[in-house]
Amino acid sequence: MDCLFCKIINKEIPSQIVYEDDDILAFNDIAPKAPVHILIIPKKHIDSHAQLMEEDTELLGKIHMVIKKLAVEKGISESGYRVVINCGEDGGQEVKHLHFHLLGGRKLGLDL
Ligand code: 5GP
Ligand code: ZN
Repeated sequence: MDCLFCKIINKEIPSQIVYEDDDILAFNDIAPKAPVHILIIPKKHIDSHAQLMEEDTELLGKIHMVIKKLAVEKGISESGYRVVINCGEDGGQEVKHLHFHLLGGRKLGLDL
């Protein structure tokens, strides 16, 4: 499949990986919008939040626990952070593989 994030999962495209397990990969965003800007993705290809299935419930929980642990590791757990999911055209989703942005390390405005 011609998907940028699937290629990152398969290591066909290099990335700065900060977490990996059987189901989840997390890596630094190539164009960070904050001192901490990590993308957390399921290894299973899911086009977007709108395509989530009931069977993905456990995976979503795991992703959130990874995000929580990464926030502690990166030292932004206490100062605060934002988790963003862009979905579809109006949501501003550029890469069509479900991903969670973890942003922190500075005060974020509504437009980031
Ligand atoms: P979206 O706008 O789809 O929610 O977010 C896509 C994100 O992927 C953007 O923040 C963008 O900077 C990031 N991105 C795009 N291409 C690459 C890449 O090749 N490597 C990495 N690490 N991040 C990328
Ligand atoms: Zn993909």
